Amino acid sequence: MNILFMGPPGAGKGTQAERIVDEFRVPHISTGDAFRLAMSQGTPLGVQAKSFVDQGLLVPDEITNGIVRERLEKSDCDNGFLLDGFPRTIAQAEALDDMLASMGKRIDHVINLKVDRDLLLGRLTGRRICKSCGSTYHVLFNPPKVEGVCDKCSGELYQRSDDTEEKVGTRLDEYNNKTAPLLEYYGNKDLLREVDGQQDIDEVTAGISSLLRGQA
Ligand code: ADP
Ligand code: AMP
Repeated sequence: MNILFMGPPGAGKGTQAERIVDEFRVPHISTGDAFRLAMSQGTPLGVQAKSFVDQGLLVPDEITNGIVRERLEKSDCDNGFLLDGFPRTIAQAEALDDMLASMGKRIDHVINLKVDRDLLLGRLTGRRICKSCGSTYHVLFNPPKVEGVCDKCSGELYQRSDDTEEKVGTRLDEYNNKTAPLLEYYGNKDLLREVDGQQDIDEVTAGISSLLRGQA
């Protein structure tokens, strides 16, 4: 099953992806994670992406499309994948359609997590991530058992440098200007399904899961 998760920054895409990939046994492909890894390793990709990510701006399409193409060609995507945070522009969506067509594949489901803008700032500034395994927490809404320590692997939790009030404003503007038009793009293809992302984390998972199983 080939799945896309849409929704503004902080909607819960990464949180839900962690759970849905376990259930459906497909790889989780997050372009944000790919950029952060490259930046932490100081690779040429990381150097190119850094100035954009640090400002809360989208990385240019040619750079982003290239990493997704390379990733989708790996054999672990043969039985499906979950794309989280890509595409984020119409040009990326068109490039994705072309990539998939050339591989004889197509998107099966686009899930849009709906969350009001006024909730997103609190979600993003309270987000904490495990340095070792990448699991996502929230200081209030999904706290770890021991402050600052990952429940799953005991790794150290950190705050993303772009999860500040100032950067979140830019990121939400980028979303509204460049990414929100994709809802119409996928709506026109009759692929878009909405899930209320303001429910409890477990309820959101259940909603997504039943849509993907064709039970909703
Ligand atoms: P995204 O990947 O869409 O940017 P995340 O999954 O990282 O969003 O979630 C952003 C923050 O909101 C995280 O701190 C996460 O723990 C928290 N969160 C995710 N889903 C919910 C929810 N349903 N209710 C409350 N907080 C949530
Ligand atoms: P995320 O982890 O999805 O919140 O992404 C973090 C940052 O990585 C974004 O603010 C962008 O700078 C960059 N990024 C992630 N995915 C994309 C994409 N599809 N297109 C452009 N930039 C992206």
